Amino acid sequence: MFKTPRGLKDILPEEISYWRRLEEKAREIFSLYGYSEIQTPVMEELGLFSRSLGESSEVVQKQMFIIKRKKENLVLRPEGTAAVIRSYLEHGFSKKEGFVKFYYIGPMFRAERPQKGRLRQFHHIGAEAIGSNSPYLDCEIISLSGGFLKEIELKDYEIKINSVGCKDDKDRFTSILKDKLKGKRKILCQDCQRRFNQNTLRILDCKSQNCKETVKGLNLKNAHLCSDCSLHFKKVTELLDKLKIGYSVTPSLVRGLDYYTRTVFEITHKSLGSQDALCAGGRYDNLIRDLGGQDIPAVGLAFGVERLLLAQRVRLKTQHPKIKAFIITLGEKAKEEGFTLLDELRKNKVSSETDYQNRSLKGQMRKASNLGVRFVIIIGEEELKEDRVTLKDMISGRQEKIERKKIIEELERCLGQIPVEN
Ligand SMILES: [Zn+2]
Ligand SMILES: [Zn+2]
Repeated sequence: MFKTPRGLKDILPEEISYWRRLEEKAREIFSLYGYSEIQTPVMEELGLFSRSLGESSEVVQKQMFIIKRKKENLVLRPEGTAAVIRSYLEHGFSKKEGFVKFYYIGPMFRAERPQKGRLRQFHHIGAEAIGSNSPYLDCEIISLSGGFLKEIELKDYEIKINSVGCKDDKDRFTSILKDKLKGKRKILCQDCQRRFNQNTLRILDCKSQNCKETVKGLNLKNAHLCSDCSLHFKKVTELLDKLKIGYSVTPSLVRGLDYYTRTVFEITHKSLGSQDALCAGGRYDNLIRDLGGQDIPAVGLAFGVERLLLAQRVRLKTQHPKIKAFIITLGEKAKEEGFTLLDELRKNKVSSETDYQNRSLKGQMRKASNLGVRFVIIIGEEELKEDRVTLKDMISGRQEKIERKKIIEELERCLGQIPVEN
């Protein structure tokens, strides 16, 4: 028997209703904040991600699903931002509108070692506001993420923010960090010893307990920020205070991707263990230029849908579609007649079902009651002879024979009398 490949997962009907609700709420909230939906393909050119995320980033080095073909190298997108920016540039939004706000919902792919809260196909709900360097926008996008969590009734999360600064500041940050870590290099994990020269800031992201402790002891104080970046960050925190949004400034927060500048943030949830981020985002003021566009600043975020699901520990129920009527037939001739009626009912938008497994009368009744239908229509030999059908109300138990040609009208009348949730 075939199974889903490692790190991949089916989303079964019992989970789908939760997914739907999340997507609905996301669409509602993002629209409320002025974002329009955009969909980009799941595949992009390989170069798009190596250029934007950085050649030395973990994602580009180890986690890309690359599809090699004769004349091209494609990759299953590992994240959404670079793809949205590609689209923004390709369709000339920078010239047409300048400032735009987009959101997207869809699968992302990374060849990681699967673990709790980490799949190889995972789903992001993300947003990008492109064309402004205003700190108001940094605050707005953090407020938007809180608004979304409130809407889906997720509590006990924590917002962590920091500023990595502009490009020069990041270089300064790197040398400050190198300096502070010089004597401690040997106690870092293997990965971090490698990161020390190539990708020093990623050490701050390391999940190994030892490295975490070491980072904690470094006493980082955002000394790397230039005065402009410092002011920007100060404004962001003041605005968050103004909107009464709780957050903690976390100087070790950097995010693993090269493109981030200035504000970075993360929303975490205790229940998630070491992979505790529900949402991550930040400003990326150089990305658009790095991808061949003009100097256009932007800020964005992405929620991990699977993480939201884990954190919320929703009790999942098997969801059946809401069927209103079930047609029970006895004998082949009645079956055909029932099948025709079923088709008519559906064309009249009455959700209805019948038996496809040659069940007995009793078995068909049981199936109907399992589906929770209110009405059952029975067609047997007698009904066929009289050109009528029997309509039974499953709650009152009342049943009566109705002329075949009047059944739809009668059923609609009965359905019209019961409360909507039935
Ligand atoms: Zn700066
Ligand atoms: Zn480490």
